Amino acid sequence: MFKKILIANRGEIAVRVIKTCRRLGVKTVVVYSDADAGSMAVEMADEAVHIGPAPASESYLVADKIIAAVKETGAEAIHPGFGFLSENPAFAKRLEEEGIGWIGPNAHAIEAMGDKISSKKLAAEAGVSTVPGHMGLIEDTKEAVKISREIGYPVMIKASAGGGGKGIRIAENDKEVEEGFPAVKAEAKSSFGDDRVFIEKFILEPRHIEIQVLGDKHGNCIYLNERECSIQRRNQKVIEEAPSPLLDPETRKKMGEQAVALAKAVNYDSAGTVEFVASGKDKGFYFLEMNTRLQVEHPVTEMITGVDLVEQMLLVAYGETLKLKQSDIGINGWAVESRVYAEDPYRNFLPSIGRLKRFKAPPEGKLADGEVRMDSGVREGDEISMFYDPMIAKLITWGKDRDTALDVHGEALDRFHIEGIQDNMPFIAAVVDEARFRSGKITTAYIKDEFPEGFNGVEPTDSQLTQLICSAAYVHGFMSRRAADVTGRLAPPDEARTEWVVILGDKHYPVTLELGDAGEAEITINGGKTHALVTGWYPGLHLVEGLLDGQPYAVKFADRTEGYLFRHRGVALRALVCTPQVADLHARLPEKEKPDMSKLVISPMPGLVVSMDVEVGQEVQEGEAVCVVEAMKMQNIIRAETTGTIKAINVAAGDSVAADEVMVEFD
Ligand code: ADP
Ligand code: ADP
Ligand code: MG
Repeated sequence: MFKKILIANRGEIAVRVIKTCRRLGVKTVVVYSDADAGSMAVEMADEAVHIGPAPASESYLVADKIIAAVKETGAEAIHPGFGFLSENPAFAKRLEEEGIGWIGPNAHAIEAMGDKISSKKLAAEAGVSTVPGHMGLIEDTKEAVKISREIGYPVMIKASAGGGGKGIRIAENDKEVEEGFPAVKAEAKSSFGDDRVFIEKFILEPRHIEIQVLGDKHGNCIYLNERECSIQRRNQKVIEEAPSPLLDPETRKKMGEQAVALAKAVNYDSAGTVEFVASGKDKGFYFLEMNTRLQVEHPVTEMITGVDLVEQMLLVAYGETLKLKQSDIGINGWAVESRVYAEDPYRNFLPSIGRLKRFKAPPEGKLADGEVRMDSGVREGDEISMFYDPMIAKLITWGKDRDTALDVHGEALDRFHIEGIQDNMPFIAAVVDEARFRSGKITTAYIKDEFPEGFNGVEPTDSQLTQLICSAAYVHGFMSRRAADVTGRLAPPDEARTEWVVILGDKHYPVTLELGDAGEAEITINGGKTHALVTGWYPGLHLVEGLLDGQPYAVKFADRTEGYLFRHRGVALRALVCTPQVADLHARLPEKEKPDMSKLVISPMPGLVVSMDVEVGQEVQEGEAVCVVEAMKMQNIIRAETTGTIKAINVAAGDSVAADEVMVEFD
């Protein structure tokens, strides 16, 4: 086995690789940019080499710097993680020339699979089922329309060099091809520097199902079953699971065997993923592309097969023969992964960057009915910067069946607390509890279908409302008593108070709270039923654990200038807890006057102004683009919320802006 390797990546995947290396006794070196000095990966690795400024193009993507770091530290091989240089055949070739090991597939395999047109041809030759369509290049729009008609609508127009969901369009008719074909060509040119485009049939009720394969340098290759990744937003995977609710053993075997046939056709000698689009209509499946690297969602496969994929990658890269046989690979239970992103689900998933003021991970490890694993590369106090991927963590849960794995997932989300930036956990929790998702009848359009207006939170059920009111009264009552204990001498009257009012919006809930000495409490709402609340809450934990009708639950909360914010699953509620006298005053207060913000265009997040598309004096219509702000690899078009004339412009292209900075003012 290798004695020392270098990880040419950052964040959670660098940490993930280090964990396996530690277990195997392999020493690790990480490289890091200015933005990652002092990161968790740097702290955990045995050695760390600084490779330049924050932008990836000046650090993680510079082959010379990575190779210099290898030479400086004497690492024997490079693990590329995903993204960055992981699918760059020139880099893999160069390492071979320099005599540096590569913990990934051979350069020829990367190259052959790097292009959608050529890999599709290769797949067809290897007997893999491919999407019906035109295998060749298409020169102009006229030809594109002709070919689309031959294939039959709807069709998908794709950039051959595409990836990450870019350079893809669906067309339902001639007109949409006439618009879409040049658009995809232009996007392909600007994003990938390669404007080759092809067209294939759009598969109805499409589901994204992919097969994990593993090969060695001695001609052996096996499949580790499938992952379903149909829950995507803008072609970005959000929730992944293994196995897939769609597949039966026979289809699974067929897909697995085809994936292995394709891998063998390119002498595939590492971990890789063969992506298929499967039709929910007839379970037909068709090859999409092969990703020649470790995949973000690999942990769900590890959970159901018990195989450590990073360990296998290291072994086969070292030249060992695969010890695992196809017959060793089974499916144990069900695993679900969600990607916790730094984004605001309530504001159309705008990126949200900044410092993690609080980061309390859910308890990891085996539970009575499942298991929780978290893959993350950040700690409390770390910064989510605008330079890299917006993923904060991956939460992975396991259960004996799908429902159990999902229940455990919801419970873990309730115990995962983040403050300082916005996160998409309420949205993930809403999906995890949603009826259609639970039924397994999903497609890649699921999020668009079920959340057509975006995400606006979930209405609490009666029992969730009770949980939230109890938690609010409890937290406030407990803190009041603590304050009384600490200040002692003042002995405020709140010390023994049992009557409180919880205000949610304009609703008032009178509550009686009997606090016991061990921190337990009995709570009665509106003089009704008494809810025993057994609690695991202590100041600083931001989590109340209770028992309602015998069922355990968890609610997370954060202090706000006025009141508290309580979150449970997809529900978020602001609560104010006051004495009955103060509550009475509140009820009589006039509706607070809100400042008129509609005349201001405010930056929704910190970022870089890419363009300013209006001028002072210009008439602008509501909804018109005002400027573009870039943060975390995403360009966000900021639109006018009102119709009017521009009075002032405070920023220009190239400027950095802070969150809530006023960029443009209307008359
Ligand atoms: P797909 O390419 O099919 O979407 P994944 O869901 O596994 O496959 O996504 C992996 C993608 O994550 C990479 O293609 C890349 O764009 C992005 N990525 C790059 N670097 C990183 C990183 N350090 N951490 C997380 N994601 C990254
Ligand atoms: P990328 O390289 O961006 O990951 P893919 O070719 O893997 O591009 O396609 C991205 C997504 O688009 C897939 O996950 C799948 O859901 C959907 N998709 C791709 N091709 C088709 C098709 N022919 N019919 C239906 N859906 C498709
Ligand atoms: Mg893909």
